[in-house]
Amino acid sequence: MSDIRTNEEEGKKSLNFIEAIVEKDLSEGKNGGRVQTRFPPEPNGYLHIGHAKAICLDFGIAERYDGICNLRFDDTNPVKEDVEYVDSIKEDIEWLGFRWNEIFYASDYFQQLYDFAIQLIKEGKAYVDEQSSEVIAQQKGTPTQPGIESPYRNRPVEESLDLFTRMNQGEFEEGSMILRAKIDMASPNMHFRDPVMYRIIHHPHHRTGSTWKVYPMYDFAHGQSDYFEGVTHSLCTLEFEVHRPLYDYYIDLLKESDDYHPRQTEFNRLNLTYTVMSKRKLLQLVREGLVNGWDDPRMPTICGYRRRGFTPESIRNFIKKIGYTKYDGMIDMALLEHAVREDLNQRAPRVSAVLDPVKLIITNYPDGEVELMEAINNPEDPKTGSHKIAFTRELFIEREDFMEEAPKKFFRMTPGREVRLKNAYIVTCTGCKKNEAGEITEIYAEYDPMTKTGMPESNRKVKGTLHWVSAEHSLPAEVRLYDRLFLSENPSEEKDKELHELLNPQSLTALTNCRVEMELQHAKPYDHFQFQRLGYFNLDPDSKKGKLIFNRTVSLKDNWSKVKEKV
Ligand code: ATP
Ligand code: MG
Repeated sequence: MSDIRTNEEEGKKSLNFIEAIVEKDLSEGKNGGRVQTRFPPEPNGYLHIGHAKAICLDFGIAERYDGICNLRFDDTNPVKEDVEYVDSIKEDIEWLGFRWNEIFYASDYFQQLYDFAIQLIKEGKAYVDEQSSEVIAQQKGTPTQPGIESPYRNRPVEESLDLFTRMNQGEFEEGSMILRAKIDMASPNMHFRDPVMYRIIHHPHHRTGSTWKVYPMYDFAHGQSDYFEGVTHSLCTLEFEVHRPLYDYYIDLLKESDDYHPRQTEFNRLNLTYTVMSKRKLLQLVREGLVNGWDDPRMPTICGYRRRGFTPESIRNFIKKIGYTKYDGMIDMALLEHAVREDLNQRAPRVSAVLDPVKLIITNYPDGEVELMEAINNPEDPKTGSHKIAFTRELFIEREDFMEEAPKKFFRMTPGREVRLKNAYIVTCTGCKKNEAGEITEIYAEYDPMTKTGMPESNRKVKGTLHWVSAEHSLPAEVRLYDRLFLSENPSEEKDKELHELLNPQSLTALTNCRVEMELQHAKPYDHFQFQRLGYFNLDPDSKKGKLIFNRTVSLKDNWSKVKEKV
């Protein structure tokens, strides 16, 4: 179920548990008063909002305690990795507003790690196992049952040394042998049951080419990389908690003194409702063409949210609100949208757009006349001033804002009633015209010249206010509306269904017949706007001159406030 606690108020008063750990270490003079973190993505996909949570913590801790945070690409599996991902990761971190101190790659340490492996073989702490991965898996045992020792476990050191060297020279097939640490096949921690250190991969690496034929496993690379770099606080998600003893084990064997040992601390990962967060599944969505690339505005990727119109500030505020704990949970997507609304309300200029236009003719307004009406850019931010919007005899309004026979409570346009046209006049609807199919093609109204916005009569009490654009002085546009990508609140739990079966068929609606006010001819890709009464939108980078495309970032309605009341 949704976990919708927020740490907003709490965060102001107290430290999160990781900050408390860092402050304690500092007060005890650990690491010579140094704070160093790292953000360690594997370059095998684009970053998602879960990564943003890790980024805010890794970079945030360094900033707060005058330390440094390095970016380290955990590039130990050449099969899945690519420079495309390296570049996108850098771009996304910078967009979020963080700066790394240095960039490192786990592949920078391949030689050191290899030398360390050789050392462990010589010390009798590692051996080459020639069994198949299936057999090795069968021998693992269970948490309550000890595993079975490999027949290769006690082979002579020279034999392992020779085989490992030849593994790296490319003499053996992938999967034919591995290097394992010789620890304890009966350990209650499964990760200690002779874990794999190296496997053979013949695929070239995006940085080291074909220099290496053996590649270290995560557990044999991560802690040591932290150690080589001088990381003091190695922050990662909870699933690595069970790996921590192994992390410490290798560092203990590697470290030269007791003065320095990087510390791993785990925090809860971010899971959001109605989406998936694993790179493997996101890659599948892209590969199967179920979305339009990594930056599809429906994707939970950083580049997807950027394209959709989310701001870095809103993402950071959201992360601040959810905080860091030791418990995994599910966060309601509505909370993220709430943060986006809060931010865009402050920064997005108000403009008019009509998504489903129908013509409104002001029959007593002179033909050919154009009045430039004053439109306030942002009532939340008066210094942004105002712009002009053209008012003419022929306008467009939303089709759904008119009803020929309306119930009493319909405070929009209907014959015989008054309604206000935003920033312009009060008008009275006089009727409409329909085609043979019964569809409304034109609506008629008369304006009251004494009610122009700003005149005393304009204060007359009128229940409804509608947005509109001039028929002649407006631009055609496409508007893309987005809904949740998945139908299910937690798609990852639906193990018996294929990814494509879980998708919301209505997640994208493209409206191609929209009209927007002239002011938007100056819009640049990614610019934010509030379309009056409709929501927040941004200009999609696919727009071209004469073909504007807008994305709906979020609607105006806030579901989060409702959710919060229930808590
Ligand atoms: P995925 O499971 O999506 O493939 P990953 O953990 O394999 O993600 P990495 O590139 O290894 O991705 O992650 C880099 C860092 O981001 C790690 O420290 C990881 O703990 C953190 N991270 C990944 N996913 C999340 C998440 N959902 N919430 C918080 N942190 C995350
Ligand atoms: Mg990973």
